[in-house]
Formats: sequence, C-alpha cells, structure tokens
Amino acid sequence: MPQPLLTLTNRLPGTHRRLLGTLLLISLLIVFWPSSPKQQSPLLSLMPVLVSSSLSQLEPQLGWQAQWQQLNQTLFPEPEPEVDESIVHYAIQSGDSLSRIFSRLGFSQQLMHRIMAADQSLLALDVLRPGHSLTFQLDDNKELLSMELFVHAGNRVLYQREADGDFSYQELLDEGEWYSQTLVGEIHGSFYLSAQRAGLNDAEIATVSQLFRDRINFSRDIQAGARFQVIRSDNYVGEEATGQSRIEGIRLFNRRQQLTAFLHENGQYYDAEGNSLQRAFMRIPLQREFRISSPFNPRRLHPVTRRVSPHNGTDFATPTGTPVLAAADGVVIRVENHPFAGRYIEIQHHGQYKTRYLHLDRALVRNGQRVERGQRIALSGATGRVTGPHLHYELHVNNRPVNPMTANIPLAQPIPDEGREAFFEKVAFMIQQMDEETLLAQKR
Ligand SMILES: [Zn+2]
Repeated sequence: MPQPLLTLTNRLPGTHRRLLGTLLLISLLIVFWPSSPKQQSPLLSLMPVLVSSSLSQLEPQLGWQAQWQQLNQTLFPEPEPEVDESIVHYAIQSGDSLSRIFSRLGFSQQLMHRIMAADQSLLALDVLRPGHSLTFQLDDNKELLSMELFVHAGNRVLYQREADGDFSYQELLDEGEWYSQTLVGEIHGSFYLSAQRAGLNDAEIATVSQLFRDRINFSRDIQAGARFQVIRSDNYVGEEATGQSRIEGIRLFNRRQQLTAFLHENGQYYDAEGNSLQRAFMRIPLQREFRISSPFNPRRLHPVTRRVSPHNGTDFATPTGTPVLAAADGVVIRVENHPFAGRYIEIQHHGQYKTRYLHLDRALVRNGQRVERGQRIALSGATGRVTGPHLHYELHVNNRPVNPMTANIPLAQPIPDEGREAFFEKVAFMIQQMDEETLLAQKR
C-alpha cells in the first residue's frame, strides 16, 4: 500500500528513498496510464530520467494522489501564455484619444486623470498620432506601474506611479544625429508642386514661402525655370529616422534676383548677409503689461509632493476676458481642452519656434488656421486647475521650453555678434554644397 510505504521510506537514507520513490512512481504510472501500451512505450523509456529529476522537488509526506498530481503537472505542464501579461503595448491609431484607449484597456478615467496631472507641464499626451505608441507596465495586482509614451526614437516620456499613487514624468530624450542632403530643382508650374517634386514636404514648403514672402510673391513673380537649392537635415537616432527634419539653407534664383535663407544655431533664419528674415516676435502676447504672478522656473518644487514640477511658462495676472494675441505669425497647431491646463492654444511659428497659451476662457481661432503677429487668438480665463484667472504663456525653441521673458526672440535684427563668424562659415560651406549638387544634377 503506498501510504505505509512512504512512511517507511522516511526512515531510509536519501538515495534509497529516492530510488524507492522512483520505482514506486514508475509502477504507478504503468498501472494508471490511461492509453494503450503501444503509445506508452516511447514515453516510458524517458520516464526514469524525468522522474528522478522531478522527484527531488516532491514532498515525501504528500499522499500518493497529490504526488501523482504534482508529477503529472511537472511532466505535462499547462501551456504558459506566450505574452507577458504585465506589459501591454498599444499602437496609436488615427482618431484615438487617451480616454478611449484607457477605457478599451480597462483602466479607469481617474487613473487617466492622475497621469494627465503629471503631463500638465509637458502636454505630450494631447496629440496622439499613428506611429506613436503607449506601453503599460502592470504590477502583480494588475495595477498600472508605469506608462511610456513613444513619440519617436529620440523622444519618449515615462509616467511612473509614485508611493502616494500620483504619477511623475521623465522625458527620455536622445538628440541623435542630423544628416543633411542637398535638393535641387526648377520651378515649372507652381512652386508648391515643383518643391514637392524636389523632395520637400508640406511643412518645409510652407517654411520656404513664409521666409521669402516679404521679398517675393510666389503666385505672381516666379519665372518659369527659376532654380532653387535646399539643404535639408533629417534626424536619426541610431539607424532609425525620427521623422523630424529642418531646412538648413535655401537659395532661389528668380529672374536676376537671388534669395537666400540660412538657419542659425539660435533657431532663426538670416540671409547670406546676416539680415533677419523673420518678423519680430512680441515679448508679451498681450496689449499691455500685466503683473507676472508666477515666473518661468524649470526647477520648481511642488509644495506638497516636493517633486520637481517645472513651470514651463510665465503667468500674467490677466482678468478673465483679456484679449490674448499671437506672439508672431504662424499656424495654429492645437486648440485643446485639458483637465489641468484648461483650454489652450499652440502655435507653430517659422524657424524653430512654438508658443502656448493656457487656461483660456475662449479660443478665437481654430486648428490649422494661419495667424498674424498681434492677432487676437483668444480671451484669457481660468480654465483647468488654477487658483485664479491668469494667462500661462510658453515659448519653445527647438522643442524645448525657454523663459519667454529673457529668451533670444526674433527681433527682425541682423545676426547677433555671438556666433556670427560660425554662421558665415556655415553659409559658405552650404553654398559650396549647393553648387556641387547643381553641377551634378546638370550632368545627369
Ligand atoms: Zn503657469
């Protein structure tokens, strides 16, 4: 009988016990094996090896049924799920919103609000596009530990749960490398189509026409056969293109006129002589000055959590209804409602500049609209999480927030002394590249 035998084996030395156990289990297997003997034979020849290796894990005081069950589990384990259930990866599809993604994945809206609170100073989660993705990491209780937003290989944001249940954020940035290429073309028909044929995208074509618009009318003044040369840089992190590009330099030969534009390291464009091509920015996007109620402070500590919670803009104590003006010409790229930032607008300007206007009462522009410097774009308010009405104004250069009150803004003035020499060296080098590429294109 198995039970007394096992009691007996407990008094035997280990090796004997193991040998006896092995023999016992083999006999049990043969007796209880459910299928025909012919099918057993290949498996049974493996049995001693499997049994001896698994037996050391068995508890000797277990009943034989339990041992049998345990052995059965060791030999025929339940198939392991192939996906790691603690990681959920979600690729953004067109039309997705964070709220929809959270409900689809079974996360609460309260949880989403906690993450949006962490995202208040970045506002990275408001514009989710195909190509972006979210990776959720869960703990043993299936609660969210962290969420990572992938924008491109050089821009990821990690939102992590803290001990108090609130989330903190961390930007994982990689500048990568910029590789430039020279594109040359001639204008036949519209500049837009000709530039597209040469390999420029819509945003780049818009930049070119904006930079030269005070000097040339693209729909009227262009002669058929006018030549242009563009040096365009593309951003890579490792082997991967991030999809970011920028125009480093342009030359346009039209009739007897030569137009040039080159990007300086301060994010502004100047012609080959160093004259500014950008209309001046307004330092303050308001009709008159208001008291600054909270200054720009990238190292601000949250008064309660003591975590760094940067203040990426300047707050002006504007009463609700104060007209807000576009700081410079540009295109509205966001009109959003955020639980913490409130109603806000983002404008893309020429060069490497963006501005944001938060806590608005009312937006007077729509997404995609072109705006001019000084145009009324909104009325200030107290939307989102605020202690009182004010305008929060942000200025970004090369996608990084800078202090709007002290930053180097385009002033429609010639190139500053600082970096002047480097600029002209770069211009000379780019002109050489353009000439060489044009010669090559003519030989083709
Ligand atoms: Zn603020």
